[in-house]
Amino acid sequence: MLDKTRTDWRQAASERSIEGRAFIGGSYVDSLSGETRPTINPANGDPLAEIAVCGMEDAEVAVANARRAFESGVWSSMAPVDRKMVLVRWSELIEEHTEELALLESLDVGKPIADTLYGDVPSAARTIRWSGEAIDKIYDEIAPTQGDCLALVQRLPLGVVAAIVPWNFPLSTTAWKLAPSLATGNSVILKPASNTPLTAIRIASLASEAGLPDGVLQVLPGPGGSLGKHLATHMDIDGLTFTGSTEIGKLLMEYSGQSNLKRIFLELGGKSPNIVFADCNLGKAAAYAATAVFYNGGQTCTAGTRLIVEEKIRDAFVEKVIANAAKWMPGDPLDPSTRMGPMIDEGQYKTVADYLDIGRDEGADLLFGGGRALADSGGFYQEPSIFGGVDNQMRIAQEEIFGPVMSVLSFTDADEAVRIANDSIYGLAGAVWSNDINTAHKVAAAVRVGTMGINNYFGGDVTVPFGGFKQSGNGRDKSIHAFADYTELKTTWIQFE
Ligand code: NAP
Repeated sequence: MLDKTRTDWRQAASERSIEGRAFIGGSYVDSLSGETRPTINPANGDPLAEIAVCGMEDAEVAVANARRAFESGVWSSMAPVDRKMVLVRWSELIEEHTEELALLESLDVGKPIADTLYGDVPSAARTIRWSGEAIDKIYDEIAPTQGDCLALVQRLPLGVVAAIVPWNFPLSTTAWKLAPSLATGNSVILKPASNTPLTAIRIASLASEAGLPDGVLQVLPGPGGSLGKHLATHMDIDGLTFTGSTEIGKLLMEYSGQSNLKRIFLELGGKSPNIVFADCNLGKAAAYAATAVFYNGGQTCTAGTRLIVEEKIRDAFVEKVIANAAKWMPGDPLDPSTRMGPMIDEGQYKTVADYLDIGRDEGADLLFGGGRALADSGGFYQEPSIFGGVDNQMRIAQEEIFGPVMSVLSFTDADEAVRIANDSIYGLAGAVWSNDINTAHKVAAAVRVGTMGINNYFGGDVTVPFGGFKQSGNGRDKSIHAFADYTELKTTWIQFE
């Protein structure tokens, strides 16, 4: 894999036939209306494949299938050790199809091929394997009651779960949702983002090949505003797990209240602080500061978009960050040396460009970037961009831009750093850089986020929970804790005669 060139990947892309149908009841089908829409390659604007547009009538079929599968017990009552074997086999099949899936994800999302090959695909396979391997090692509880009774506390699957995911990490987010929800015995209906349905559609048949019974996993591409809303308001769906914007997350909670109070778990937006003290390894911190914002073109919920630097080193440190930013100029995603690809579509490109104007109008100093890159490519490439002179009340410091735009702020002491970090509606992630163990731990403890790095950024794997405080969401993806989102606690009280 390492030795494949851009020409090799382009050749492979030209030879691919891409599945765009929905996966319902164990096979690929057209939507009942027959409607399709193209999915676009953000690297050049070319259509990649026609994708089924599912609507309410397709959802009704899928929900009925999912309910039937759940009630039959074919999966929900299967011994955990047997569910484990299916999930482990599925993860192996994903690994066996690494190149194919990495290429699909790169074409659909515009992610660099090196990222999908060594990041997204192995991470999805590992998440599914880990959840499968965990599920037959978890015991339920017996409560500490008096001696004339026995109280069992069990975790039971919710039933039918809908999963709605975004376009920025389609495959890995899908795996974060499917692995624990399936491991715990639910039937799941996945709605991928309209922009990026390809890998979700593909791995559904690999799940079937691994032995997942028909109707237990179904993938329905379609518009969020109609299909997604229909799933979220459906009276026969018991749980909804979502990753996406805070705006839509709030709507989903309303939909739940308007329908059947289905359990809602949300992973939402962020505006994460990256706090740098003068006493840290500044070279390493500067390289990570750039990665924290420019990785995935800044289209990352945990992106460290607010760089909060100790005042006395600010200018020198920002020089180092700018030197690193220059290494993130965008390129063709199929070139193995490319670190940053395009924005997902013209709309997202325009959103980012508008925020660059907003930052200038607010009086911030554009220190680096700010322009369109590779304008002749037909793709939606944005230069990595850095604003200095930012006040935390500016919109560019408060709002999620979802593009490669860094805002630099400064502080004089740890209390001020924490105050700025916490002055946000979001609480998803952050990091602190210091070689003083007291400073690092005190600041890490005080910043109100779900994941905090000390002397690293983007740390974490499937063994640790992931999710947000405040308006970054509720519930947790990954780790044993994710199982709680997909199960109900049930007490059985046995009174002895
Ligand atoms: P989005 O607009 O909220 O869309 C996410 C998903 O929701 C898509 O599948 C979308 O369908 C669907 N949707 C849209 N309107 C809906 C409605 N009324 N009812 C039900 N579903 C609806 O988010 P995005 O632009 O795809 O993704 C970017 C956002 O995701 C950012 O805010 C980012 O921070 C967040 N995110 C969070 C995490 C995390 O773990 N915390 C991880 C990744 C991304 P369509 O595609 O058809 O519109």
